[in-house]
This record gives sequence, C-alpha cells and structure tokens, in this order.
Amino acid sequence: MAFLTSRQSWLDKQSSSAPPCITQASYLDAEQIMLAGKSYTLRVLENQSCNRIVLEHEQIVLLMVTDMSLRQRTALFDAWYRINLASRIEPLLHYWQRIMAQEISTWSIMKMKSRWGSCNTRKRSILFNLELAKLSDCLLEYVVVHELAHLIEPSHNHVFKSVVEHFLPDWKGRKAMLRKHIINY
Ligand SMILES: [Zn+2]
Repeated sequence: MAFLTSRQSWLDKQSSSAPPCITQASYLDAEQIMLAGKSYTLRVLENQSCNRIVLEHEQIVLLMVTDMSLRQRTALFDAWYRINLASRIEPLLHYWQRIMAQEISTWSIMKMKSRWGSCNTRKRSILFNLELAKLSDCLLEYVVVHELAHLIEPSHNHVFKSVVEHFLPDWKGRKAMLRKHIINY
C-alpha cells in the first residue's frame, strides 16, 4: 500500500504514543502537543521576530513576539494544524479516488466536536475534522476511505462495510483505534 511501509506495526505505534482524549490545549511551555499520531513537547519562546510555530528536533516550538492569549495561540495552532492536515489529506485523496474509482468535487477542513468526517454524496464533497491533524496517517487514511465509500453506498449498511473491507481489509482495527480518540472540550 502506498502510505504505510509497515502495516504490522501501526497498532503498536498508536497505542504507545497517542493519548486517546483530545482536549483543549493551553499551549504553555512543556505541554505535550499531538501531531500526526505523535506527542511532542511544546517550547514557548518570547521576544521573537514574528509569531509562528516550527517543528524541530522532536519539539514543537511556539515563537512569539510578545505573550499571546489562549485565543491567539489557539488560532495560530489551528492554522498550523490545518496546513499540516491538508498536506496529508491531499495525497491520500489523490490515491484513494483513483483506487476506488470515485471522484469528489471539493473537500474542506472544519473544527468539529462530534464527527471525524462527513460526505455530501449529492455534491460529492467531503468535510474533514481539523482534529484529525493530531492523529496518525493510518487513522486519517481510514477516514478518507470511509468517506469515499459513501459515494458508493451512502448508509452504513452491509454493502458499505463490504466496500470498506474490500479496500481496507484492516479497517476494523483502525476504526476501533479511532473510536478511542474522544474529542473532549
Ligand atoms: Zn460514515
């Protein structure tokens, strides 16, 4: 498969690195920050030339001109997560639309509390939850295939399940892992 070099180990990686509950972060120094299924220590630095976030040496660094409020930090992180998530969704959609012989018209990212994704089958558009940026490619891939499968079968019936099963034989493990991640804020 195109996006996972080792399918055997993804479950181990998931369970060892990803705390399941997604909560509202405070974005304070030394806090653990999730990105793509991994936990990073946040470093916060003031008196910088601009406000930005960088990932370096296994740390996420928040550079600030002056102290930022939680609202400002959250807005900056949301924008950063959005760019990260979009860059990971793009190749997955490209690949799976071809494999599943389904084409979408548009897709977008939104912060949602109750759903990982949704598919408007009439418009052939898919909406992804911004919080997926915190989860691994493996779980993101499951959401992509799940939503594309709705273009073949809109409801969660046995036809739908057989479609997902056909393209992602290990979908049950991924779904179970995804369900452990509860958005709690
Ligand atoms: Zn669904």
